[in-house]
Amino acid sequence: MIVIKDQDPIYLEHQIDIKLDYLNHKYISGNKYRKLKYNLLEAKGLGFTKILTFGGAYSNHIAAVAAAGKEFGFDTIGIIRGEELVDKIESNSTLSFAKDQGMLFHFISRNVYREKTSATFLNDLKSRFGSFYLIPEGGTNSLAIKGCEEILRLEDSKYDYICCAVGTGGTISGLINSSQSHQHILGFPALKGDFLREDIRKFAHQENWSLITDYHFGGYGKIKPELIAFINQFKNRYHIPLDPIYTGKMMYGIFDLMDKGFFAEGSQILAIHTGGLQGISGVNKLLKRKNQPLIDI
Ligand SMILES: *Cc1c(COP(=O)(O)O)cnc(C)c1O
Repeated sequence: MIVIKDQDPIYLEHQIDIKLDYLNHKYISGNKYRKLKYNLLEAKGLGFTKILTFGGAYSNHIAAVAAAGKEFGFDTIGIIRGEELVDKIESNSTLSFAKDQGMLFHFISRNVYREKTSATFLNDLKSRFGSFYLIPEGGTNSLAIKGCEEILRLEDSKYDYICCAVGTGGTISGLINSSQSHQHILGFPALKGDFLREDIRKFAHQENWSLITDYHFGGYGKIKPELIAFINQFKNRYHIPLDPIYTGKMMYGIFDLMDKGFFAEGSQILAIHTGGLQGISGVNKLLKRKNQPLIDI
């Protein structure tokens, strides 16, 4: 039985509320919980005992799948991008967390990783690991979208804008599908990439959305000091932690757009806090090595 605890939105400024969707679970946080929910039920229903998925060294999805496997009784296998990580598990907080949760790793080169959706490669994995329930990189499939459709509730229909961070586009697709047609969904991609619009169109059933592509800060791994400063100021002022890969960029973007008068006077904005806080310690390690200011924790 999976229980989803919902949070009431928190009042921030006259124009914006934030839904703390990451408080739904201690380890399987935020949108990753939403995306896994129906996949886990499906895997159980089909009698699978093993879940296999893909991710990078700091992946929130890898951490979430590992924790979900432990909690709901699945063996988990993580196919990790980057062979060099094989002897860096202990120094990587995401991987060491996932390992503690019982995840078995298989490290592959970036070249091989590109094959992750090919039938041949998946068959190789089957002969190596036996039968498994496959969850794609980032966890996005139609059951994940179904879970993300549960983020918005009836009382959220008063908002004119609903904002979220975008990685693979699964979360925003769920928000779009469960939104009212008078609402507009704004996605803030955490990476560069024009493929996202196409990917979202595959799952989203309405046209009331757009992507704001000016706030990716160079992509997943590029951490800019101005973003870190914003995250620290935000936490200091509102006591809400943001992560540097997704929610920090989204919130920076929303505040910048508010400054620039993007939102009409009186319009109501809801930002979805999708979690991702497990990634902070990994990023802080990188920042420390570069002698740059850290994220306050
Ligand atoms: C994975 C993730 C996202 C991106 O979700 P998609 O469904 O892949 O677009 C956004 N925010 C956080 C915190 C995440 O961990």
